[in-house]
Amino acid sequence: MEEKPDLKSMNLRELEAWIQAAGEKKFRAKQIYQWLHEKHVTSFDEMSNLSMELREKLKNHASLPVLREELVQVSKIDGTRKYLFALEDGNMIESVWMRYRHGNSVCVSSQVGCRMGCRFCASTLDGLVRNLAPAEMLEQIYRITQSTGERVSNVVVMGSGEPLDNYDNLLKFVELLTDENGLHISQRNLTVSTCGLVPKMRRLADKKLQITLALSLHASTQEKRMELMPVAKSYELTEVLDACRYYFEKTGRRVTFEYSLVGGVNDTPEDADRLAALLGDLKGHVNLIPVNPIRENAYVQPGQRHISEFKKRLEQSGLNVTVRREMGRDIDGACGQLRRRYAGLSLR
Ligand code: SAH
Repeated sequence: MEEKPDLKSMNLRELEAWIQAAGEKKFRAKQIYQWLHEKHVTSFDEMSNLSMELREKLKNHASLPVLREELVQVSKIDGTRKYLFALEDGNMIESVWMRYRHGNSVCVSSQVGCRMGCRFCASTLDGLVRNLAPAEMLEQIYRITQSTGERVSNVVVMGSGEPLDNYDNLLKFVELLTDENGLHISQRNLTVSTCGLVPKMRRLADKKLQITLALSLHASTQEKRMELMPVAKSYELTEVLDACRYYFEKTGRRVTFEYSLVGGVNDTPEDADRLAALLGDLKGHVNLIPVNPIRENAYVQPGQRHISEFKKRLEQSGLNVTVRREMGRDIDGACGQLRRRYAGLSLR
């Protein structure tokens, strides 16, 4: 059977072309687009300004992916909400909603699973299942907005998956998310995190968008990076940092560097000094993430004092550093943990 086209992943131009090819008037596309991206309906039946006949036709010839809320965990500590959503094919993904002083933020997944293989990450343990469609990334935000009743102002693509490994769908997602006829989230309030796929980082830089690029660095030498992140075997540390420099040159946006602190692995004073030397001219922001231990490996967080010392050492060399506040500590914080637990994959 031929797959029905997914109308929710189309921009207005594409939707207009599709609806005209289906023998309908062009202005119908705008109406459908509003139902999908402003009103966030979950069925063609709700599109009450379309004739019954057109709604039937749409049902028969088109699709609109909808996520089903399978589970929500609410943190008693800080109100962080972690959602487990079922996709229409039965696959599960996770998204997180966090409330900050400057507004609400959602962390979205970009793939089911991941094929990058980072040693400390739960999302990659079973490999990549499939890419998410643009609509499936948007839906995470639409459903959460509906469930909380509050506007989302910031989006980070830091959930499961490697967004730049799903490049075309990511770009369409960015286009639809920032569209004035949709949620109209500013590009500056959107962060995309990558493990460092150099050619894609450069391609993204050439687009000259105003989104923030975050690089998962996690090590201060090529050797240590290769141990933690198999992707480092394909792209040398110097190449990755050059791509960050290129991103800054092209877009004027400073890159954020994520550094998961793993006790006894990448947390020595020498690591801090090498890191400072590497990032010196990039003037980016460093986000230290005390590693979130998962059952499948033996990594541990450094002690609180040790983390503060590491941070201070970086600051002394002029870097701007924050330690990521652990949101929702009590609710399976680490990427991919909830989905695995739900599937019974990491139950002991
Ligand atoms: N694939 C993208 C985005 C997903 S993960 C990337 O690699 O950037 C978002 C961030 O969380 C990445 O920096 C990732 O390395 C980090 N991360 C994943 N699992 C973690 C864990 N158990 N503890 C701490 N950080 C983790």
